[in-house]
Amino acid sequence: MPQKIPNLLDLDHSQLESLLESVGQPRYRADQIWQWLYKQLATEVQDMTSLPKALRAKLEEVAVLHTPRVLATQESLTGETRKDLLEMRDGEQVEVVLMRYIQRRTVCVSTQVGCAIGCRFCATGQMGFQRNLSSGEIVAQVLHFERALRTQGRRVTNIVFMGMGEPLLNYNNTLAAITRLMDPAGLQIGQRRMTLSTVGISTAIRRFAKEKLQVNLAVSLHAATDELRSELMPVDQRHDLDALFAAVQEYINRTNREVTFEWALIDGVNDTPEQAAALAARIAGMLVHVNLIPLNPTDGYPGQPSSEEHVEAFTDILDRRHIPYTLRLRRGGDIQAGCGQLRARIHRQST
Ligand code: SF4
Repeated sequence: MPQKIPNLLDLDHSQLESLLESVGQPRYRADQIWQWLYKQLATEVQDMTSLPKALRAKLEEVAVLHTPRVLATQESLTGETRKDLLEMRDGEQVEVVLMRYIQRRTVCVSTQVGCAIGCRFCATGQMGFQRNLSSGEIVAQVLHFERALRTQGRRVTNIVFMGMGEPLLNYNNTLAAITRLMDPAGLQIGQRRMTLSTVGISTAIRRFAKEKLQVNLAVSLHAATDELRSELMPVDQRHDLDALFAAVQEYINRTNREVTFEWALIDGVNDTPEQAAALAARIAGMLVHVNLIPLNPTDGYPGQPSSEEHVEAFTDILDRRHIPYTLRLRRGGDIQAGCGQLRARIHRQST
């Protein structure tokens, strides 16, 4: 749907200055509005009370401040994980997750409505692709939980780009969102507290390596042979493991940052001794860490989380090869907020 009037959250600072100049306003007004958006967390133009009334009225003529509507909220039984379903300006819906740890409050944001990649075990992939989210729609998900946390005297400390969608296929908007989230005049979230998770678009990883950022990179690997990986993740047919590992090594060389490989342990599928040995052989000597997490089951895929025996046999091989890994707990599984489980569950009345 064409939306000619810009959303203030989609503008970078210089675009906001240009907008204000176009209505005869000085540049410093942009600083004031920026503060209202990203420090005071305004949800309406009329909240910006340090602006003259006439300017607020003018601003409402030339732009909107769109705050996504909350359609549903689910809390996990432990209270650590909360998942909200948000409605965007055109009615599209995305899920965003807040994970509360002792020291951290991490928001898992979506970058697309649905996903075109179609990993077999992923609920988002099973729903297909609708559209990219704008930079403002990505940032709005963080602002949403920042508002909720501030009422408890807390704030968002970390962001993971691991929700619905493949961030590197929405490259420019994801990059613009990262830039805005780390802005010292705004939310000021440290680059090293952000993690971008990709399915492994090797060309885009190489491009991202050149951005001179210190953002963490996580790659969904899930298999160490092209034969198995292309069965689980169609992306492997265009970006095979050789291309992927070369791109990851370039990212490490350029950023000097450790890269994480995500591995959802699927019983009898990718938790075999052969896969563990292939993984160890592929990554020996690289500055990488493996995150093992038993699969979060979804309705559209018959795979189940690995048995304890399989997990033990798999990790034994990694131990023997001195491969650094962490065996993670599944979080938010009871509210389908775990990795690979997000999908917009409430549909518009008209659909
Ligand atoms: S795992 Fe990521 S890339 Fe794969 S289908 Fe799901 S959202 Fe898309």
